[in-house]
Amino acid sequence: MRCANHLLQLIIRIWGNKIMLFLFLLNLITNCVIITSSDSVRQICCRVVVSALFATIEGLFYHLLKRVWLHRIFLFVIVFLHLLLCVIDVFLLLNFNFVLSQDAVDIMVQTTSEEAKSFLITYVTIPFLLCTILAIVCLLWCINKVASKIAQHGFAAFTYMSLSLMGLLLYVVTVINYVRFHDGQSIPQLHPITRAAHSSAILFKRHTQIVTLQKINNAVKATVSSNGVETIIVVIGESFSSYHSSLYGYSKETNPLLTKRAHDGSLTTFFDVATYSDHTEMVMCTVFPLNKKPVPFFTDPLFPVCFKAAGYNTIMLDNQYFVGHGITFLTDKKLSQLMFDYRNTKGYQYDGEMLQEIELKDTPQLIVLHLQGEHYTYASRYPEKFKRFTAKDYSNLTAEQKELVAHYDNSVLYNDYVIDQIIKKVEDRDCILVYFSDHGEELFEVDDYIGHGNAAFRSDPTYQVKVPLFIWTSQQFCDKHSDKAKRIKESANKPIITSDLPHFLIDVAGLSTEQFRPEQSFINDQYKIRKRIILNSVDYENILNQPRVKSRYY
Ligand SMILES: [Zn+2]
Repeated sequence: MRCANHLLQLIIRIWGNKIMLFLFLLNLITNCVIITSSDSVRQICCRVVVSALFATIEGLFYHLLKRVWLHRIFLFVIVFLHLLLCVIDVFLLLNFNFVLSQDAVDIMVQTTSEEAKSFLITYVTIPFLLCTILAIVCLLWCINKVASKIAQHGFAAFTYMSLSLMGLLLYVVTVINYVRFHDGQSIPQLHPITRAAHSSAILFKRHTQIVTLQKINNAVKATVSSNGVETIIVVIGESFSSYHSSLYGYSKETNPLLTKRAHDGSLTTFFDVATYSDHTEMVMCTVFPLNKKPVPFFTDPLFPVCFKAAGYNTIMLDNQYFVGHGITFLTDKKLSQLMFDYRNTKGYQYDGEMLQEIELKDTPQLIVLHLQGEHYTYASRYPEKFKRFTAKDYSNLTAEQKELVAHYDNSVLYNDYVIDQIIKKVEDRDCILVYFSDHGEELFEVDDYIGHGNAAFRSDPTYQVKVPLFIWTSQQFCDKHSDKAKRIKESANKPIITSDLPHFLIDVAGLSTEQFRPEQSFINDQYKIRKRIILNSVDYENILNQPRVKSRYY
């Protein structure tokens, strides 16, 4: 009993301290002020415990300082930082419906001084400044009053300590997950300071990658054999689950046009294909460079640069990345010029509308298409006339879940049409079209989860990391490159990881370049079946060997 009493006194002394409680309330309010109705209960709880953890760290640091003037400076810096980030978050949320995130940091870096000046003149007005100052004074006064009132209160101190420990546990789990799977990017988003720091670190990392890539891709040499392929089309899909494709045995006819092409023998479906990551951006970093391994990302040239160096006309039509919008290797102007002769400058609501920009040439051509595909929100991914599936076509799901799955299947049906339209444009050419999805998508098969991006923690990760890959070849291609056409068909059941595809593209096109590795091209005699390590440390073969969790509705 005495021991418990001592412990409670200690907790009150530390977490019931007025400064500690002031910092807790400051963290809690400035962090939680951006919570909206779209945040889940789990996200809100995580935000609260992370606020408590940060306040404890700040408070302990404050008490470690021995001098009064150091206390004052530290407190001033902490309060200023929290309030500044809070004002920026609230301002962005009210005016632009987003907070200080990666996108916002990217935009700030790309803003010229003239643009910044006109932005500040437009938004930072005298009434805005006066209202902000008044709100800050009121907020600090209230926090101070409440902290004084609850200081030395056993319940407040105990609650605060418990929340801090939960925050610590959350961070420990995050660190473990990051080390194992390179997953955990969502946790820095839970606090304004880590969110700003994480966004800046990512920006710096991407900038370094871009500089490295510019150097690597500046002097690439490649040639094409006399029997090179005239037109190569690479279609990178988005969030397409092979489990929802009739090409892969799904009971609903979501891919009628592609299935027809599979039946006439012009399309080969690959059945054992894994992606390295379940995040779009990370996948893009693995499917462009001719790397030996998916990571580290950029050690070798990007495959379009090789095609360009070999004399191909190279174009990319992208419905997700645009040059000059964001800091990535696909939005960098110089890298884009090194890779492509043409890039589209605007996005389209539906992928099919983007096809109007395909301009076929009489010279050898590489066309890379990056679609919105089946990306959430599914209902906005297809035009009305592709609304074939409705909620009543599904069972064992809630009404809302049925709606979402129906929208998803309709987006797959539209994607089927889009690919077929691309093929129709090039049917009379010497052409090969390679389609693969960046990653899959989980749609309530196992439980109430929908989406992608956390495959490592799911009971059956295959829904997110097993991806569709199919290759269509024209009649001319089969006539001119009969050996390659035969090898493609024979490879339908080979184990493949999409990060090897750049090597296959170099091989099938008949290109020669120093960085090509035949052991990574599945149509090559030297192809080596290797262990497929995905999600940083997961052996994909182990996943395949686990018992499958059967879908509860198909
Ligand atoms: Zn994606």
